[in-house]
Amino acid sequence: MAKRNKIRIKQGRELDLMRAACKTAAEILQEVAAFIAPGKTTREVDQFAGKLMELRHCKSAFLGYRGFPAYTCISINEEIVHGIGGPRIIQPGDIVSLDVGIVQAGWIGDNATTVPVGDISLEAKRLLAATEQSLYEAIAHALPGKRLADLCGAVEEYVKPRGYTVVREFVGHGVGRDLHEEPQVPNYRPQGKTPILEPGMTLAIEPMVNAGVARVKILEDGWTVVTEDMMPSAHFEHTVLITDGEPEIMTYRPRTALPEMLGIAAF
Ligand code: MG
Repeated sequence: MAKRNKIRIKQGRELDLMRAACKTAAEILQEVAAFIAPGKTTREVDQFAGKLMELRHCKSAFLGYRGFPAYTCISINEEIVHGIGGPRIIQPGDIVSLDVGIVQAGWIGDNATTVPVGDISLEAKRLLAATEQSLYEAIAHALPGKRLADLCGAVEEYVKPRGYTVVREFVGHGVGRDLHEEPQVPNYRPQGKTPILEPGMTLAIEPMVNAGVARVKILEDGWTVVTEDMMPSAHFEHTVLITDGEPEIMTYRPRTALPEMLGIAAF
């Protein structure tokens, strides 16, 4: 595997294996998202994800990572990321961020979505639509010869005029053999010179967008990240390959938060 500025370049069979891992990650994400329903606990959702991983002979990329105690990250409303499945009961009107990362044949696929539960508020629908769109704004910059800064900047530059903020303490990342590889992929335009994107780079792009302030707190479990003002937050993520041409969404799934899908006007 070649490296550019410490960024691992994948090619050939490496990419075939990674594509397969990403496909599995995307399928599990969608199955678990469909399982989310009012009255279930987040622990039940996490256990369901664990079973699916076992059935597909892959492993969670998160379980045991720096001691993380669950298969997936499940984060409700004011929880941004890294929520641990537990006794919290999913309620109608909640938005549930679900992050699924798996390891298959030594390669990682990492992706996330935010699921609306029952009838959610107009504010929540707009937050979901803007966050999902910001991911695609960033992906549109995942082109060879472009600077990483343009990809990162696209997230904040899309959501800020809509009244939202992006989390600064947690960022996207290179991904492949390891869950967190170079480079960091913040959801805002980084200062200074950033790498030029080239074919074979694989990035986990993951906007974390808050309805209120950008600042965060970490709960006493040492993991769950929540908004400081307890306003809701959404999270969408794809693993994306830079190619010679258009970006390849390795964890491809159909979109779920287009304004028309949520029954709201474009804004
Ligand atoms: Mg990630």
